[in-house]
Amino acid sequence: MAKPMTTKTICWFRQDLRIADNPALTHASQSGGVLPVFILDETDRPLGGASKWWLHHSLSSLSQSLGGLVLRRGNPLEELKTLVEKTKATQIVWNRCYEPHGINRDKEIKSYFKSAGLEVMSFPGSVIHEPWEIQTGSGGPYKVYTPFSRAIQAKGFPPPLPADTVKIAETDDLGHTLEALNLLPSHPNWAQGWAELWSPGEAGAHTALDIFLKSGLTGYGELRNRPDLPNVSRLSPHIHYGEISPRQICAKSGFLADKSPEHAHDVGKFLSEIAWRDFANHLLFHFPEIPVRNWKPTFDHYPWRQSKEDLEAWQKGMTGYPMVDAGMRELWHTGYMHNRVRMLVASFLVKHLRIHWREGEAWFWDTLVDADLANNTSSWQWVAGSGADAAPYFRIFSPLGQGPKFDPKGHYVRQWCPELAKLPDNVIHAPFEASEIILKNAGVKLGETYPFPIVDHKKARQAALDGYEAVKAAGLTPE
Ligand code: FAD
Repeated sequence: MAKPMTTKTICWFRQDLRIADNPALTHASQSGGVLPVFILDETDRPLGGASKWWLHHSLSSLSQSLGGLVLRRGNPLEELKTLVEKTKATQIVWNRCYEPHGINRDKEIKSYFKSAGLEVMSFPGSVIHEPWEIQTGSGGPYKVYTPFSRAIQAKGFPPPLPADTVKIAETDDLGHTLEALNLLPSHPNWAQGWAELWSPGEAGAHTALDIFLKSGLTGYGELRNRPDLPNVSRLSPHIHYGEISPRQICAKSGFLADKSPEHAHDVGKFLSEIAWRDFANHLLFHFPEIPVRNWKPTFDHYPWRQSKEDLEAWQKGMTGYPMVDAGMRELWHTGYMHNRVRMLVASFLVKHLRIHWREGEAWFWDTLVDADLANNTSSWQWVAGSGADAAPYFRIFSPLGQGPKFDPKGHYVRQWCPELAKLPDNVIHAPFEASEIILKNAGVKLGETYPFPIVDHKKARQAALDGYEAVKAAGLTPE
């Protein structure tokens, strides 16, 4: 493809690392030479290690698909100023982000370049509907998921845009190499083997969706709770980086449900999970303090504990509760954890250990390939009981009950805690209840090959509830 000499439009990629259904790129493509740009925003919360690994590979894939991508790092306003000066671009376009930092940054950039005489246009980002498009009857934001999801369904699912032919402008000598962004781990390279687990990029995202629709969707409504079964899509990192858009997912899944009505129930459930993500973005847009403050301020009075030792045992998957430990080790080894187990490990940290949800959020931020400000912070607050539409504070997941219920044969625990693999099914989720002889036969030495529980379940549960009593005693009944 012949490259035009001049750049007309800078297309600034952010959380939309795809070519198809990319409204900003479609607009740019209609106006002449497009300079595709990605800027590692050093004014924002630093990305976690796992997320950086993903980004590296996703940028590599996008650059190859486009036939060029300018990579820069630093303050986006300054970087864009440099690029405008060098290329004489007359237009800048992007798809909107809904995080507080991104909104303020984009406002400033739009206003700067508009005053400088450039055309600046933004387009809907990677959501089904933008956060302000869904409103309650009185015109305010939703705080509860169920009516929000009904409102989304009533509004319908906008169709995705097709991929356009993009006329890429000359990108040489305008940016850094991908390696210079320094996104990959080196000493140690804890992501070794991840390339076999994941395929970051637009093509990988569509393949993951196709595989899920073909072999994971049947039974999703119920089986999505089973970490021992392959019935979830594992699309979350692809969706976070916008390699595939929710509109594309809705269109493809909806088409399948229309063609094969027997899939309608599972597709409906799957799309309701996609809508949870829109809900998290809706909440973050309307309540931008969710990442840093309890959404219910009454929870400011909860008597959190500080224990480096317990926090580390949780992070390393050494709590003595196999289902919790399996989840934390899955996270460490793959950058992902099944949703059911995320809820359990989060509840364990916040309720059994009474450690602040922000500690857990920060660990997830660093270790998840799908780390996402809206989903992560609203989910942590949901589990803690301090968030919007949250689980009630007295709902304390039992690691002893959740294991047998959602991993009945112990396959998930055996995969991630191999030192317990030889235990029989009836004690795999509670090795401390096994007899000496059973432990011996399975080669398990509690306190040596696998830890004793770091807290007693019943006592920890009671202490968590007592903590909420203290909140009530302060005259602030948790909502
Ligand atoms: P599927 O079941 O296949 O769902 C499809 C898609 O729907 C997901 O990819 C995701 O985009 C969306 N989705 C599913 N469940 C939720 C949910 N509860 N809230 C919002 N969106 C949802 N998700 C993230 O993407 N990033 C995070 O940083 C994140 N942190 C979390 C922290 C905690 C404590 C908890 C309990 C949940 C968190 N989640 C997060 C939500 C959820 O666990 C993941 O989206 C899901 O496990 C991803 O796996 P999947 O793609 O196989 O899910």
